[in-house]
Amino acid sequence: MKLILKFGGTSISSPSNIRHVASLIKSLSKEHKIIPVFSAISGITDDLIRITNLIQNRNKDPASSLAKKIVKIHLDISNQCVKNPKIRKDLANKMKTDLGELEELLHGMLLLGEVTPRSSDYLISFGERLSINLIAYALIDMGIKAVPLTGKDIGIVTDSNFGEAKPLMDTTRLHVSHTIESLLQKKIMPVIGGFTGADQHGNITTFGRGGSDYTATIVASSIKANEVWLMSDVDGLMTTDPKIVKNAKLIKEVSYVEAMEMALFGAKHIHPRALEPLVTKKIPLRIRNTFNIKNAGTLVTGTPQADTQKTVKCVSTIRHTGLIDVRGGSMVGAPGTAATIFSVLAKAGVNVMMISQSPSESSISIIVKKNDLDKAVNTLEMNLLGNLIKKVDVTIDVSIIALIGSGMRGIVGVASKVFTAVAKRGVNVIMIAQGSSELNLAFVVNDVDCNAAVQALHDEFELAKT
Ligand code: ASP
Ligand code: MG
Repeated sequence: MKLILKFGGTSISSPSNIRHVASLIKSLSKEHKIIPVFSAISGITDDLIRITNLIQNRNKDPASSLAKKIVKIHLDISNQCVKNPKIRKDLANKMKTDLGELEELLHGMLLLGEVTPRSSDYLISFGERLSINLIAYALIDMGIKAVPLTGKDIGIVTDSNFGEAKPLMDTTRLHVSHTIESLLQKKIMPVIGGFTGADQHGNITTFGRGGSDYTATIVASSIKANEVWLMSDVDGLMTTDPKIVKNAKLIKEVSYVEAMEMALFGAKHIHPRALEPLVTKKIPLRIRNTFNIKNAGTLVTGTPQADTQKTVKCVSTIRHTGLIDVRGGSMVGAPGTAATIFSVLAKAGVNVMMISQSPSESSISIIVKKNDLDKAVNTLEMNLLGNLIKKVDVTIDVSIIALIGSGMRGIVGVASKVFTAVAKRGVNVIMIAQGSSELNLAFVVNDVDCNAAVQALHDEFELAKT
């Protein structure tokens, strides 16, 4: 099989993890053609983004010392992840070149005290650019011919939407398949850095947070891989958070759409667009644990087997969010009310997670992240209170609970089952929303009630029975 293996940052966060991953790749490569894709070491992308914020606020010294920390982390690992002294020296030289470029870039950005979308992407691309060196040389140390390559190196071409770039798939497919196939023919393993590509002018671009998943599926679709495995530190998608329900189970199979929905609810973070390249080519994806490879993980396919079909497959939660309830008589029958409210929030940079409006049109409930709550309430009060809105009520600590499963579609009585089960535990439901796809049913409770509600639903839909 041609397998794309994508490893997350925690899989490569220490010299011993890197060697573990390298030997895993080595043993799998006896049977399969392995094309590995890597994230940055965990925490590095966050640090690089922090540096851009510091530069923007002209905090030169903290920016420089954070950069020094990043350099030190990589140098420390590079001193330990390779045994053969000659190969260790080659790695040191490669790191020196790349770190030199990073330092030059930082110097320029610090001098200007300016961060553009373009320079920001260039800077944060270094997380992956450095991590692949460590892995590639650890593989070489184990006798595998490997070469570290960035998205730009393999030919991923994107638009120029820095920070949220999209691949130009036709060009990308052509370039990537050519680069990878010719390396594979020469028995050289490309060790690919995720998260980045380059626009048509050669500027480095990034796909948004978690974008290495997307790189893996773009490459898979380009070379018609048999499967993609997303390797991280969890066993796969679970029926619910095992911290809440002790007997939560691993989900064996889900469809692409279900996986997409679960990913949005943060069950296991997958880049929101990562499944797109797989759908038309019907390439299956597995979510597996780097440190528990015996476990088969969760299979994501276009055609899940009938015996894995259940009405509800999982109960996901988004904890600790804020609820804003806006009311007012003048909202009734006035076209544009919702548009006004949401554009005021959008202008303040508040992301709305969930909404519902009563048919009387006199109130709209909005869920936002807790961090955004003050900003959201302030901006609504300043702009709209007294004219469009008469009252703004806030509930500080609420949780969204979502049931996900395509088996809910067209089945009568799911909602009644859900709300009866929750009511039996004495939990008050504050707000409800169901998308018309019937793929998920979401409702909001006070966070103190979250665990009881989740447990009740996990029991009611017998999710521990597989
Ligand atoms: N390193 C990038 C991030 O942390 C991309 C990834 O990990 O997938 O968002
Ligand atoms: Mg990551």
